[in-house]
Amino acid sequence: MDIRKRTVEFKPYSRNIFFHILTQCNLKCIHCYINPDQHGTAVLDKETIFRWLRLLVESEIDLKGLLGPHVAPKVNIPKSPGETNVIFLGGEPTMNPHLPEAIKEAKRLGCRSVTVDSNGYLFHDFLKRVSPGDLDFLSFSLDGSTPEVNDPIRGEGVYEVCTNNLRLAVRKGFNASLIFTASRKNIHDLPNMVPLLEDLGVKHFFIQVIGIRGRSAKEGGSDLQVDMDQWNQIVPAVAEAVARKGIKVTYPKVYLDDKENFACAGLVADNYFVFPNGRVYRCPLCEDYPIHSLEISGDSLVPRPPIRESDLFPLEIPEGCVLNKILHPGNIEYDEHGRPKSRIACCMLKEEVA
Ligand code: SF4
Ligand code: SF4
Repeated sequence: MDIRKRTVEFKPYSRNIFFHILTQCNLKCIHCYINPDQHGTAVLDKETIFRWLRLLVESEIDLKGLLGPHVAPKVNIPKSPGETNVIFLGGEPTMNPHLPEAIKEAKRLGCRSVTVDSNGYLFHDFLKRVSPGDLDFLSFSLDGSTPEVNDPIRGEGVYEVCTNNLRLAVRKGFNASLIFTASRKNIHDLPNMVPLLEDLGVKHFFIQVIGIRGRSAKEGGSDLQVDMDQWNQIVPAVAEAVARKGIKVTYPKVYLDDKENFACAGLVADNYFVFPNGRVYRCPLCEDYPIHSLEISGDSLVPRPPIRESDLFPLEIPEGCVLNKILHPGNIEYDEHGRPKSRIACCMLKEEVA
């Protein structure tokens, strides 16, 4: 089988809206990045979801104004909703009873794709209220190939519920994908996911690296972080093995080779991470801090005054990503001369193997 691997460049004509429609969840995963103190506790009602969707899909956002007069953003603002992807998240998004209407509204607005990222519990009869034609991708989160690996991370009994609902969704014709968050607790198990993914009927496998934010930051989660050698030894090989089964794989680049250019998505992409308290971030690493670029106020999306994350994006440092250096210095390894062993890529830069 022909295997193609490529780095997915940021698309200048594409907008991605990561829309957290509540922060509540029935689970307590040890690596949960949600932070209700910073993101609010509201469950957005239908009218608010519809209003915010229109605002986010249709607004011409002044990135030049956000980045200051000396920085030219390399982003062309999408001219139509057909260039916008919406990803509904939580908390657990299916706990918001208005999710099915929200999906249909995003489609009615003409968005290119609509995705739901679920922990697999699929509340409020989700699979009965949404059809495969409404939803482009239904993603399930599972962090191990067995209950023995997954459940100590995500909770007792979660493996069984998640895999049963995933199988049911596949039988009903949904385009199912699976997200595996790699940490020191489960990276050894990643090769065992290969036969499971095939058995489950998953179309797309996402490997993501644990983010030390939200609960994991409060509870000393930096011990969970995978180091560069572990990542490089395991992840690319597993990705290739999964791709050989005909399943597409996406994983973060994490480390840049010497010849690769560094790019900050805050300067070259049109991404928005939206929370129920109206905060809108452009970089997920910043989500534990009140330095968001924009906020939703009434019917407007307004820039926050400095200092905000967007003031930091243009800073160039030998380590690559400036917010990793400031907020997560433990992610960076140095040689005996104090030079970074490798530059840290933007957390949104992905490798794709198909
Ligand atoms: S399912 Fe998601 S939102 Fe819920 S606890 Fe786990 S990581 Fe957090
Ligand atoms: S992760 Fe780093 S490089 Fe990516 S948007 Fe945030 S600050 Fe920029």
